[in-house]
Formats: sequence, C-alpha cells, structure tokens
Amino acid sequence: MKITGIKTFLMHAGAPDLRRWAADGSFGKQTFSKNLTGTRNWLFVKVMTDEGIVGIGECSGWPRVIETGVRDLAPLLVGEDPAHIERLWQKMQIAIMGHGMTGVVGAGAMTGIDMALWDIKGKALGVPVWNLLGGKVRDRIRLYSHANAVDAALSLRERGFTAFKCGGVSDPVRKVAELRDAVGDSMDIMIDLHGPPWLTPADAAQVARALEPYNLLFVEDPIAPENVDGYRRIRDHANVALAAGERMATIFGERDLIERELVDVIQPDTGRAGGITQMKKIAAMAEAHHIMMAPHSGSLGPVAEYAALHILAAIPNGLILERIEDDWEGREKTIIPHPRQENGYLRVPDAPGLGVDIDEDFVRQWPSEMNVSIPVTEKAGSYAEGTFDEQVYVQTRFRRGVYFGKKKPT
Ligand SMILES: [Mg+2]
Repeated sequence: MKITGIKTFLMHAGAPDLRRWAADGSFGKQTFSKNLTGTRNWLFVKVMTDEGIVGIGECSGWPRVIETGVRDLAPLLVGEDPAHIERLWQKMQIAIMGHGMTGVVGAGAMTGIDMALWDIKGKALGVPVWNLLGGKVRDRIRLYSHANAVDAALSLRERGFTAFKCGGVSDPVRKVAELRDAVGDSMDIMIDLHGPPWLTPADAAQVARALEPYNLLFVEDPIAPENVDGYRRIRDHANVALAAGERMATIFGERDLIERELVDVIQPDTGRAGGITQMKKIAAMAEAHHIMMAPHSGSLGPVAEYAALHILAAIPNGLILERIEDDWEGREKTIIPHPRQENGYLRVPDAPGLGVDIDEDFVRQWPSEMNVSIPVTEKAGSYAEGTFDEQVYVQTRFRRGVYFGKKKPT
C-alpha cells in the first residue's frame, strides 16, 4: 500500500459571535462551554492510499497554522507505505528539526497524520486501533465534564456523570468549597487553574494547600507550563494531586514532568502531543513512575476524542477522559457516529481503525475565521495593574487575598 495524498479540513468549531477565551468561565456572562467556541477551530486530516483505504486524524494546537504544517509535510509521505508508522514519524520529526521540532504546533501537525496512519492500519487489518495497541484493559472509559456552578454539577450527576472539573483562578477555594458541599462525596471534583503566569509558585502553593480538605482528584496547571521548577515548590508545600502537560508535546516535552515526578497525573493532548505513537510512549513513561494519564481532549475535536478512547482502553494507567457534555451542538454533526455517554462513560469503539469519520459537507459549512483571541473580562479595555486586565504574561497579582481567599471577589 502507498500513500497517495493528504487532505486537510479546517473548520470554525462554534458560533463565531462568541469570541471569548476559555480561561475562566466565571468571567463575564457566558457559560463555560460557549466561551470555547468563539475562536476554536478544528483541523482534520485524511491520508489517502492507492488501495482506497482512507485514514482520518485530527490536529489541534493552533489549527489555522498547523494546516500549513500538514501541507508542508505531505510530500514527504506521498509514495510511502503507511504501515511503517514509527519510521514515518521519525521522518517527519527529522524534517522539521531545526525549526518546528518542539512544541504543540509541529507535533500537532504530526499528530493528525500519525493518527490517520493508525486508522489506516486498523482498517487494513480489520481491527480497532485498541487491538493494535495491545488489546483492551477496559471496555468503557470514565468521563468527567465541566461545571462551575452547583446547578451545573447537579445536572451532570443527574445525567450519570461521576466526576466534573471546575476552572479558574479568580476564586478557586470558594468555588471548590461550594461545589463539594453541594455534591458531597458522590462525585470526584477537579479544578483547572489554566496555567496562569500571573499565579506565582508561592501563591499556587497556598491555593493548593487551601484546597487540601476537599479531596480533589487533581489540581490542574496551577502555574504557567514553562515554570517546571515551580511544580516542585508546590509539591513540597501541598498535599494535593497535581496534573499538567496539556501544552507539552512528545516524550521529550513531557519528560521533565514525569521523570522528576512533578505531577500525579499527566495530561498530553490527544490532538497535539505527537499522535497515538507518542501517547502510548508517554503513558509507558508515566506508568514507570506510578503517574496516571488523563488526556486533555474534551474541549478539542471529536476525532481526537475517539483516538483517546482507543488509547485509554489499552493503557493500564488511564485515569479519566475530559469531555464537555454541553458543548456546541455542531460537535455532534461533525462526526459519524457520535458517541453518547452512558452513566458517565463512553464505550470503546469496536469498528476497524478509529471507527469514526467526519461529515465533510457539515465541516464545509463552518469556514475558519480566526484562531486567536485575548481574554475578555468584565473590565475589558481597562488597564489595571496586577489584575487579569493588565494582560502581561508574567506578572504577580495585587490584592491576592481577593483572588485566592474563601470569599467571592468583588
Ligand atoms: Mg487545562
């Protein structure tokens, strides 16, 4: 079998009038899931072969830019046998050595292609991808969804969810206390602080310590992702499970967090960490350190979510999968078939390959418009030193008790 070409499908994944950041659902009037749709793009790729088998994959990270990366890589793959996934991964990595090798953009481009190659292999052999990865450890994957308010958490529980994540650094302790009080021990709770560069390790350690009594499944991205040494400081001062890794890519990018045991849960993004090839290796590295894997996935595209199901089915240290249940309605129309959660779980697909395809006609109806934005807060347009509105990457917030105390910020 030979690869004959690669097609890309870029779409605007949501209502374009909602141009907001996903940084914190508690800012402004929009609900959390709608925050995501304003600048969110999904990029799907199809790898064609001379035997008529077509593989599908997804690249997240910075989709409008990554589309160019995929087109640049395509000539390297045309004429190659898609069976040799590792060899082709190495060829792509060498090709972008010197410019795009590190980070989620280069790895994002390689991710979609790698995912499609696994899909082709599964279809060619007539087996699901989980079978190629060593078979199933589990038949269904536990999910968590997002809730920032009590009514949203209770609604998830009614629909069968057993875990949810809240987010934001504006008042994490108050929020978690309220949510734990409402659901008791019936659900696992997580919080995502979204890797804020305006939260110093000292502040993050204080926040983490204040969160100790609430028995969280994990505290995610308490500081900026580049501040790897800061994680050590937080770990030394707070007894909470830490999670990070969504903005890193490949075994080389995730290595420090794992080998230095700076996290309890590693969260490579299925759409941008370097493909199924890298996800499997990252999981194995983590396993050797008794670190669980919870792929960052739910806020991104539905094809990457399918890939995550196969990976989590096959690895022993798979913890839980992120899924925004109340997402944009177009998510359901983008792929065939659409997986439905049952009692907070998704069944692992049994069709050959990944078991998913996109509806190309639907995707074409949502042309990409933009992919970047800056946070919009209630004080948008103002310049307020030491607050979110300053919009400076590395900063310390003033009046920190307002943000990190148990009271609602005013
Ligand atoms: Mg996150």
